[in-house]
Amino acid sequence: MVRDAKVNQVILIILDDVRAEHLFKLMNEGKLPNMKEVAESGISCSNCVTSYPSITFPCYGNIVTGSYSGYFPKEGSAVPMYHWLNRMDPPSTSKKPPFIRNYGDRSKVLKINNDIGKNVRTIFEQAPQGNALSSFCFLYRGAFFVVGKSVFDLEGIFKHISNSFENPGMYFSNKEIPLIAVGYVLHTDDLMHKLGFDHPNYINLIVECDKYLGSIIKTLKTTGYYDDTAIAIITDHGNYKAKNIVDLEPFFQQKGLIPYVPEKGTGDFDCNFGSVGFFNFPGETWHHHPTIKQMERFKPSGNGKQEIDLFGTLWEIPGVKYMYYRDDDNKPEKGKIHIKYRDEESKKIIKGAIEYQGFGKEQKTRYIFEDFDFYRYSENDKSAKFLDNRFHTIEEWLEATNHIDFPMIVDQIPRYFKNPRSCDIIISTLGEYSFGYEHGKTVVTTPFSHDIGTRNSMIVPFIVGGSPEIPQMEISYCKTTDMVPTLLALLGIKPHSSVIGKSILP
Ligand SMILES: [Zn+2]
Repeated sequence: MVRDAKVNQVILIILDDVRAEHLFKLMNEGKLPNMKEVAESGISCSNCVTSYPSITFPCYGNIVTGSYSGYFPKEGSAVPMYHWLNRMDPPSTSKKPPFIRNYGDRSKVLKINNDIGKNVRTIFEQAPQGNALSSFCFLYRGAFFVVGKSVFDLEGIFKHISNSFENPGMYFSNKEIPLIAVGYVLHTDDLMHKLGFDHPNYINLIVECDKYLGSIIKTLKTTGYYDDTAIAIITDHGNYKAKNIVDLEPFFQQKGLIPYVPEKGTGDFDCNFGSVGFFNFPGETWHHHPTIKQMERFKPSGNGKQEIDLFGTLWEIPGVKYMYYRDDDNKPEKGKIHIKYRDEESKKIIKGAIEYQGFGKEQKTRYIFEDFDFYRYSENDKSAKFLDNRFHTIEEWLEATNHIDFPMIVDQIPRYFKNPRSCDIIISTLGEYSFGYEHGKTVVTTPFSHDIGTRNSMIVPFIVGGSPEIPQMEISYCKTTDMVPTLLALLGIKPHSSVIGKSILP
């Protein structure tokens, strides 16, 4: 055992798309006896705040690295989102038009290993002294990666982890068991989108994961590794059911907005839009982000180049409540994100902003609004204290807002917009309308999704147990990027300097 280490190895299971509320309810009902055993033996938190937007990327990548998006030429993960347009600012030297990355395309998902830049490290890369196993975890840099014939081989995900303890020679030439093993379950997300979070098939799938986790525990006990192994469980985001579904294709056609075609470099906009919409528009060229003025006087190619105000146009989309965009003078180390909020009753548009300064752990942000606090932070004693016109760190925002809607969002929005690969305008209906729109087509027609800043989508479980060396404690809040530094602390390893989360060990 390394000095200061509490355990010799860690196993992390990431379930995709399970709310803390739902997982803990199933545990309390006795349906997940193995997860319950792990939670009760160690650290348990039913109020862990994930990244915003609450979409698989950034959320899942941020768990594996312990970091966030940011100004990636200098800091942070280079992946702002599940979908992004490869625009560099200053303009790319590439002669080709910017490509669209979409991790929903299964043939592209492994590109995440290159897309996530070298400024951040995976948990595997942060512990190079031991064997690392990635079982179906697509962000596997630094690990031995195993994936079955089908990504839906649920048993296989857990079986490979058990095997690596029973027969490590199958995976590692030094025949030693893994220091770090991570398993990633995608199926839960697939069923949530198709059937919903209250469908028996979705719930049964979580129950099945628990059963397979039980097999890992059994293996650890029979091989004698249980007492010095930490077992962790986390999810990347929660979910919600949208109230209305609308096909946006006719709307864009009517406005003369032609979807971007990366192969040709033609078109007026690129967009992916569940209930949070991410819009890209060309500036001087498709390699440039547009200025505010360029977006106010935009000439769509499908309407004879008649000038339209894109901001006004986007407010016409049903249910839009929030709008975010960068200020023209933003710099990576200092800048402002404009927020507009539309009050449902009066239809009045209320202005606000988030200002930021600094990088990484040192980033500080402040939330400014005129006459109405559209995050309703002022309605709560703890969060109201932070409306003091001062700049605050991620830890301060977490402490102030972990118990209400829009947890930590003031910190998260600038981290997203600093990334040159982020979009130009975000709009959100807050789950009221969902559009299932991706790059010119309506592709999703179910109301079940995740992306918004409310608690049902943002709050996930955080569990670390197993070994009796792990302190037994329930913590009232934490964030998903605390998982990597907590597991590394249990192993007695110092996290990489890019890690923004912190160990929650006492
Ligand atoms: Zn996900």
